[in-house]
Amino acid sequence: MSTFRDLSGITPSGQLTLGNYLGALRRFVQRQYEVDGYYFVADLHALTVDHDPARHRQLTTSTMALFLASGLDPEQATVFVQSDVSAHVHLAYLLECTAHVGELSRMIQFKQKGHRPGTRASLFTYPCLMAADILLYGADRVPVGGDQSQHVELARDLAIRFNSLYGDTFVVPELEPVALAARVLDLQDPGRKMSKSDPEDAAGVIRMLDNPDVIAKKIRRAVTDSDNEVLYDPKHKPGVSNLLDILASLTDQPPRDVATSITTYGQLKQATADAVITTLKPIRRRHDELLKNPAELNRMLVMGAVKAREASEPFLAAANQAIGITR
Ligand code: AMP
Repeated sequence: MSTFRDLSGITPSGQLTLGNYLGALRRFVQRQYEVDGYYFVADLHALTVDHDPARHRQLTTSTMALFLASGLDPEQATVFVQSDVSAHVHLAYLLECTAHVGELSRMIQFKQKGHRPGTRASLFTYPCLMAADILLYGADRVPVGGDQSQHVELARDLAIRFNSLYGDTFVVPELEPVALAARVLDLQDPGRKMSKSDPEDAAGVIRMLDNPDVIAKKIRRAVTDSDNEVLYDPKHKPGVSNLLDILASLTDQPPRDVATSITTYGQLKQATADAVITTLKPIRRRHDELLKNPAELNRMLVMGAVKAREASEPFLAAANQAIGITR
């Protein structure tokens, strides 16, 4: 096992998508054998905007079941729900006492949504919680897509500032850019990424729990173009290239090779639907089994929470000590 610790969370702000699977979960599953991995359901991060408690609870449980059903092994990696480890909130407060109002005001989410009436204060402070998520586990490197780099930069800045104010306490994490090839685009609007926060019935979003008929229908209706030429050209043919990317990713081939073996859009859609259904079907079955067996799911949740508390405790204790909290 490498000494590298890496860490990633997914916020349960909607039913997970094929993008979450190909861009995140599948990678976590591969990496759990190479690194000391920490993978968590970031349930507290879903509370920064208007939410429904019952739906939040259901999404948190379902997301954890999808982590496990996708192949994350709680004996191998540390797989947990963020709110089960109270150290996250504690350290977040210490980091709020380290961060400056100016730098939090410059965070993209706050700049975009922070000035609407009724904005929750947590929409301003959540980057400190995200920094706590990272710093609590001494993660050396944090895999980030382009949209997350500002958060990891802030975590680095806060770690450096805390260390220089109070003495060496935190590992300063490196950013590890994730290959853009893993980016799955919306099937109806291939100009933007497939997002779990879109309306539940969005036709361009494949959910990991969609049944095979729904998946086939969404892919059949995916936007392409009128050339009817199967070519990998993300700039000029984003819809077709997105389908090629999905199929290539699921069959472990370069998208250009996939393109040469297929002649019509109909074939491309059929092959893509088959590959997506073959991959997601057993995951959905396992997810449903876990939800029907709360004792088994709970045993795994407890195992993850215990491991995460043990791993984070020394970093929290060191931060308390450094900042002057006596107990
Ligand atoms: P989000 O759903 O934006 O909270 O992201 C959770 C994780 O899933 C992050 O690691 C993202 O990079 C990944 N992810 C989300 N949507 C996509 C997508 N459409 N394509 C690839 N990766 C994605």
